[in-house]
Amino acid sequence: MADKKRVLITGAAGFLGSHLCDRFLAEGCHVIGMDNLITGDMRNIEHLMPRDDFEFYHHDVTKFVHLPGKLDYIMHFASPASPIDYLKIPIQTLKVGAMGTHNLLGLAKDKGARILVASTSEVYGDPLIHPQTEEYWGNVNPIGPRGVYDEAKRFQEAITMAYHRYHGVETRIVRIFNTYGPRMRVDDGRALPAFMSQALRGEDLTVFGDGSQTRSFCYVDDLIDGIYRLLMSDCADPVNVGNPDEISLKEFADEIIALTGNRQKIVYHPLPQDDPKQRRPDITKAKAILGWEPKVSRTEGLRRTLEYFKTVVEGQQ
Ligand code: NAD
Repeated sequence: MADKKRVLITGAAGFLGSHLCDRFLAEGCHVIGMDNLITGDMRNIEHLMPRDDFEFYHHDVTKFVHLPGKLDYIMHFASPASPIDYLKIPIQTLKVGAMGTHNLLGLAKDKGARILVASTSEVYGDPLIHPQTEEYWGNVNPIGPRGVYDEAKRFQEAITMAYHRYHGVETRIVRIFNTYGPRMRVDDGRALPAFMSQALRGEDLTVFGDGSQTRSFCYVDDLIDGIYRLLMSDCADPVNVGNPDEISLKEFADEIIALTGNRQKIVYHPLPQDDPKQRRPDITKAKAILGWEPKVSRTEGLRRTLEYFKTVVEGQQ
């Protein structure tokens, strides 16, 4: 249909990108997925390939991006996202945040499209205020190993605001806090997939540091809903989207052991450099502007995610 909204989603074969594809298709949009598969997996979107309202381009967004036809929205989610990935491919991480974002802002300007970029709680670094509000400027070590990701995302925010201010492009910036759910990679090095796959294999769970560092985990359906609302809002300033329900990594590991019904131990390994000690979003702004707050409890979210990880881990055995 000619009046369908057309949306480009970069990072479409990744964890969040693939869920966004599902959401925009459910909203009746025509979705164009783009990914170079550096950390993504075509299995995340193979269910969409037969659809007429979905197309996929295997493309690196740090190279010029050309698309024929009109475009209403761009969702820029391409970027390695877990420490294990961005420590392995640091230059690509910097390039996709910088050059990739520049290319997509140029495309948004050319097409008159609204663009939403995926930023992160990592822009706050190891935060000195708690919980983190959007007004906090962060505490990032630019030359530490994690700096490649944090600074790429900080540059991404800066160039996005510059396109908004100087070219009048309609921009949105979401600061995403830790999110979990089906289609996370088992081996992406983040705490939840590591804990769940270790528990399901009957191995001990590895906690880095003494486990007292905190995180707050948002279920993917909640996050996608917050992002969709932000895109449809008129807010150009960054907005935190995440779940403020904070938990220590030790308690989190205990919950997963209890959920899997196994009796593993927790083993402690040294803390990686610049690992943040505390992370919790202040979502006052998202509540006020988007009328959004998370709905899925951690018990329910973990149950749904465990079902997914069971199929993956069983498939590997
Ligand atoms: P992911 O690794 O599953 O997905 C990222 C996708 O981007 C992959 O499919 C990868 O192949 C693709 N990609 C990377 N570089 C590319 C390039 N140059 N050209 C085209 N495609 C490229 O990660 P994710 O967890 O789905 O994260 C998606 C976005 O959300 C990222 O921008 C990330 O920084 C952001 N984010 C995620 C979280 C989270 O908890 N998952 C938290 C904060 C921010």
